[in-house]
Parts: sequence; structure tokens; C-alpha cells
Amino acid sequence: MTVIHVALDVPVNRLFDYLAPNADSADIGRCVRVPFGNRQLSGIILSVSNLSSVPERKLKTAGLIDQAIPPLPQSLLELFEFCSHYYHHPIGQVVMNGLPALLRKPGYTTSRIPKQIQEWILTDAGRIITLSDIPARSKTKRQLFSLLLENGIITADIYKAMSPHSRKLLHEFKDLGWVEQRTALPGKFAFSTVPTLAPTTEQAHAIAEILARIGTFTPWLLHGITGSGKTEVYLQVAASLLAQQKQILVLVPEINLTPQLEATFRKRFPNTPLVSLHSGLNSSERLQGWLQAQCGEANIILGTRLAIFTPMPRPGLIIVDEEQDHSFKQQDGLRYSARDLAVYRARQANIPIVLGSATPSLESYHQARIGRYRLLQLHARAISQAVLPAIHCIDMRVTPAQERLSEPILDALRQSLDQKQQSLVFINRRGYSPALLCKSCRWIATCKRCSSRLVVHLRNRQLRCHYCGDQQPITPACPQCGDPDIMPFGHGTQRIESALIKQFPNARILRVDRDSIRHKTAWQTMLDTIHQGKVDILVGTQLLAKGHDFPNLALVCVLNADSSLYSTDFRAEEHLFSQLMQVAGRAGRAHIPGTVLIQTEFPQHPLYLALIRQDYAAYAQTQLKERKSASFPPFVYLAVLRAEAPVLAEALEFLHQTAAIATIAKEYAHIQLFDPVPATMTRLKGLERAQLLIQAVSRKCLQIFLSDWHQRISALPARSKLRWHLDVDPLTL
Ligand code: ADP
Ligand code: ZN
Ligand code: ZN
Repeated sequence: MTVIHVALDVPVNRLFDYLAPNADSADIGRCVRVPFGNRQLSGIILSVSNLSSVPERKLKTAGLIDQAIPPLPQSLLELFEFCSHYYHHPIGQVVMNGLPALLRKPGYTTSRIPKQIQEWILTDAGRIITLSDIPARSKTKRQLFSLLLENGIITADIYKAMSPHSRKLLHEFKDLGWVEQRTALPGKFAFSTVPTLAPTTEQAHAIAEILARIGTFTPWLLHGITGSGKTEVYLQVAASLLAQQKQILVLVPEINLTPQLEATFRKRFPNTPLVSLHSGLNSSERLQGWLQAQCGEANIILGTRLAIFTPMPRPGLIIVDEEQDHSFKQQDGLRYSARDLAVYRARQANIPIVLGSATPSLESYHQARIGRYRLLQLHARAISQAVLPAIHCIDMRVTPAQERLSEPILDALRQSLDQKQQSLVFINRRGYSPALLCKSCRWIATCKRCSSRLVVHLRNRQLRCHYCGDQQPITPACPQCGDPDIMPFGHGTQRIESALIKQFPNARILRVDRDSIRHKTAWQTMLDTIHQGKVDILVGTQLLAKGHDFPNLALVCVLNADSSLYSTDFRAEEHLFSQLMQVAGRAGRAHIPGTVLIQTEFPQHPLYLALIRQDYAAYAQTQLKERKSASFPPFVYLAVLRAEAPVLAEALEFLHQTAAIATIAKEYAHIQLFDPVPATMTRLKGLERAQLLIQAVSRKCLQIFLSDWHQRISALPARSKLRWHLDVDPLTL
């Protein structure tokens, strides 16, 4: 008998066996349809054998094995297996989570894979034709040709929309030798190519170093200040590998950053097929891009964290931009770190990986300091005239302010307006104000389902929970004492926006936060508005801090940074430093010197002192020292077991039980289990949450312990309404 062992999207950590008389080892990695209970599921064949732990008469027969899609490469299957072991997540769910949704869909057939798109490109002969060569009365013909002249290319959807005769006309052009027809390369194309820049000395050094070791696994940490031209380093290294027909994977933290980087890569490599994979695509677009990567047609693959699971037959280089960014770690389901998996993949494929950042994570920086990663540094801005911004703290204990805006900041904004330069007011809190308070009895509006305060959204007169999304109208009077004098307390983006409108009635003010970019196209429209200089003052959250290049931005004002300084989260400071360096980096990018003003009550705090000197290295070293003495990562390895239940006591009780069944054998002597405690945000979406922290001196110790412990916990009798999960290398505690 022939048995296939199949990964299915079910929450049990095992493979499922089916009889498949015609299967052989060439089917490993292929998609298969199988009966499961009274359903049909799609799964992936992970192995083929003639054995099963299930008696033969009980085995069901598998359905169709999909031969249309090439099998997943062995290396990707290994990555899935590693992921399942390392994060203690069921193998079937790891595999199916990593695949495009359409492949997972029961009932999906490959005949529905989108057809290849035809497009027409201008030939060299066509380029020298001018519109006057076409008779003026042939209006459509002229229109069509002028589009071709402008873009160099025209795709089916565009010419079809233009006129029903377009196709016929294009064939006429073809007969004249002006255009050629071809199958569309993945994605859209820009024809205005941008020349390679002459690298600065530091860039040239970095490029040469990386290129000297392209055939081996080499993890590089590219630490370059904002504006130092890390992108140019990526591009030039990429160019070299593309010339060798290698594939390049580029990971970016945020979907909002993909269009920009995509445009940069497309312009530099206009004839290289590129696919971009992120959650903003519809499922058939994502499948198409994925297939193009999988069959080796796409040479550049660009995407957010989920793109780490893209199959690549000819990998040559992995780039992780802004590697310190927390969005590389998935916070639910399979809690993987795409950055860490990227390092795994690079080692597996024996290729270099470049982790780029202006403020590397302390983990990566530590790796570089102990020699596991190689450090490359860019100390200077790439454009020689662009100097680093000057950063100043404003001591809020002694400075008068109106609506959270201090006088020096108002003065600086005024001056910036006079000089027709852009300013950014950064406040990491959306909404009008973060709390609604009764002055008489001190009542504060809180969420019924979470241990959080409700945020006032004045524009639509609503109170909103930023954790669970719950909304309710603003109460006209205090529900506790009836006093109508209830007040929004504290400041968010909307309130600052209103205050600025009052202060600067003639300024063009634009607020950019998650509320204002809710619509799909809003983000691009906003970026265009900013780039066209139609904005004087931007009010925004960290959405604006990351990676965007606003050439006319000269002033950055930071309003409420202090809240992270004395947080219980040991990563809060690292995160704040990185965030402030990033916002500061927005100022004075091109030919305008930048200024950064930070309002604080703690102007002597080491974080601000390091920030003013823009000295990441010194700051990282003191932080690492603190982490070492307090036993925090990267000097120890952590995992956290989290439980949630309708009642806190139940969650805690469960965690105590798991602690009791943990065997700390001799070989785990370096494992420490802490007492179960309520989570910082105890109540979320109506459930109470508790957690148990596990600390180990080595990754290996931790893994050995977790494998055993996880099995024991899974074997505990299920409790209704209690859910638990293990988070390995958690970002937040
Ligand atoms: P980073 O990502 O390190 O913050 P960027 O890659 O965005 O920096 O580069 C900042 C600016 O410097 C960009 O406008 C880029 O075009 C420019 N730039 C980069 N390298 C060079 C170079 N070698 N010569 C001239 N300009 C450069
Ligand atoms: Zn009251
Ligand atoms: Zn809530």
C-alpha cells in the first residue's frame, strides 16, 4: 500500500495518513484534497511511505493530487517543520498558514489560476515615431499611441477600457513594427529608469564587503543612520545577484512602506520581474505573485512578514529592512518572527542576509558585537549637503504651554511657516483625547470588555476602545454622579490638530493617523499631497515616522514621549529610542537643515541625552549593560505561556497547574519558571488574561524544556472556555 502523510489546517500537531495508490515521492510538497470527517480539505503531502500507524482498513483514500502547481520545494517544507518545532505550533497549521489563502480553500481548483496577461510594448522603431506621423482624424489611434509613448507599455485592461477598436489598432501598430506583444511580466512596469548612484565611500565599502561573500551564509547588520542611503546598498548588491539570475527577497515591516520600496526597485530594475506580496492584495493577486516566485519567474520578491514563506528555487539574497520593527513578529496564531526565520532561511540556502536599520534591535546588535553577525556602518548621510538634524529637549516643567503645545514649539512652527517649509507634529496617540473624566467624582470612562480607558473621538462624538474597537456615544453627563461637567482629559492627534488650526488659521494642516487613512487609497493620496507641498503642518502618529522621505520637511516636534520612559515593559525604552530616532530622521532629509524639538519632563534622562547626541552605539551599550544585569534578552531566552478565561482565577489556576507538571530535570537546570501573574492588560475583549514567564540561559535549553512541557500541557484535560498559547521569544510581556 502507498500512504501519503498530509499536513492539514487542524489544530493538532500531527500529519494525517491517506491511501494514495498512485502517489510517489515526486508528490512530496504537492497539494492534495482529502476527506476529513464529513468535509473535504486541502492539504500538503509532506511524505510518502508504505506504513501507517492507522490500520489499513481504517485509512481513507485521498482525492485528487494537484499536478498543476509544482510541488513546494524541500527547503520550504524544512522551514515549516523548523517553525512548527521552534514555535510549538501544529505542523498542519504552520504549513497552511504559510500558503496563499486560495490554495487552502476547499473546492479550489487550479483551473481558476488567473490567466496570463498580454501586454504591448513599444519597440525601438516605435520610439522614434511622433504623434504627427499619425493622421489627426484617427483620434483613438493617436490617443492609444500617445499612451504608449508616455508609458512605453500598455496592458489589456487599459486598452480595452479605451475603445473597442484598440486591439485592432494595436495589431496595425504591430504590422508597422512599432510595438510587440508579449506575456505580461509580473506586476506593473515603470519605464523611467533611475541610474545607479555613485556610492559614497561608506556605501562602496558595505557593498564590496557583502559582495565578497555572496556564495555563503553571512548575516550582515547594516547599521546606517537615517538618510545614509541603506537602500542604495540594497540595490547595488541586488543588481549583482540579479545579474547572476538569483532571486532576492526583501522584507519590509509595513504594508504602507511596500509601494515606495516597490517603486524604487522597479525603477532601478525595470526589466526584472518583481512581485510584491502583502496583506493588501486580494487572494488571486497573492496567489499569482506567489506562483511566479515559486516557479522562478519573479526575481525580486518584496513583502511584509508573511512573504518569508515564499518558495524560491534560486535564492541569492535576503534583505530585512528596519529589522528592529516589531511588526516582523506575528502576535497571534503562529507567533513567528519573520526576521529570525529570514536568518534561518539564509543559513539553509547558504546565502547572505542583510539586516538593515538606523537603530538595530538590541538582539541583532548584540549578535554583531559578539561576532555572529558582521557589522557594517554608515555614519554619514548620503547626500553630502544633508546634515543631521539638531535635536533639543524642551523642559516642560518650566515652559509655558497651551493645549500641550509649548511656546518654543509654537515659535518654531511659525518660523517654519514663514519659510514655507513643512513641519511634523508627532504625537503617538490618535483620537481627540485618551480619556473622558468627571471632575466632581473622578469617574473615568472605561471599556466594558477591556481594562482600558475609552478614547474620545470628538469628530463623531464617540468613545472608542482602541483595543477591542467597541464604540459608544459620548455620555452627556457623568453616569456615576450626574454632573454634566465631564471633560476630555489629555491630548490625541485630533485635539492637537484643532489646537493648531486655532493657532495657525492660515496654515494647511493635515492629520495622518489610522483614523484618517482608513480608506484604501487615502494613504497614497496623502503622501501625494505631502510631496506636492500642499501641506504646511502634518500632525501624525508613528505611521509617519517610518521610512518616508519628505524632502521639504524641516521641523519635527515631539509632544508626548515620556510615557514610555518608566514603563514596565523592558523593551519600551528601546522602542522609544528607535521611534524618536526615526521621527527625527524625517527632518532635513534633502537640502534643508532639520530641527527636532522634544517636549519632556525628564530632559536629563539618559535616553534623551543619547538622542541629542544621536549616539545609538552609546545608548545600545548602556541598555545592553542593564539588560545583562537584570537578566533580560539577549542575555537570556524567554517564552511566555498565556492563558485566558472568563474569570481571572481560572486562568491563574490553569497556569499553576502547568507549572506543577513541568519537570525541571537536571538537563534543564538552567530553566526558571516564574509565578503566574495577571497580564498587564488583564482584561481584553471580555476575557481575563494571565501569564507565566519561562527564562533560560540558552535557546537550546529552552527548546528542550518547551518540547516536553508543551506535550504535557496539551495532554491536560481540556477546560471549556479556557484558551492558552505559548509565545516563544515574546516581544511584550
Ligand atoms: P536610509 O534608508 O538609510 O534612511 P535612503 O536610502 O532613504 O536612506 O537615502 C536617503 C537619500 O539619499 C535618498 O534620497 C537617496 O536617493 C539619497 N542617496 C543615497 N545614496 C546616495 C548616493 N550615493 N549619492 C547621492 N544620493 C544618495
Ligand atoms: Zn461624576
Ligand atoms: Zn475594549
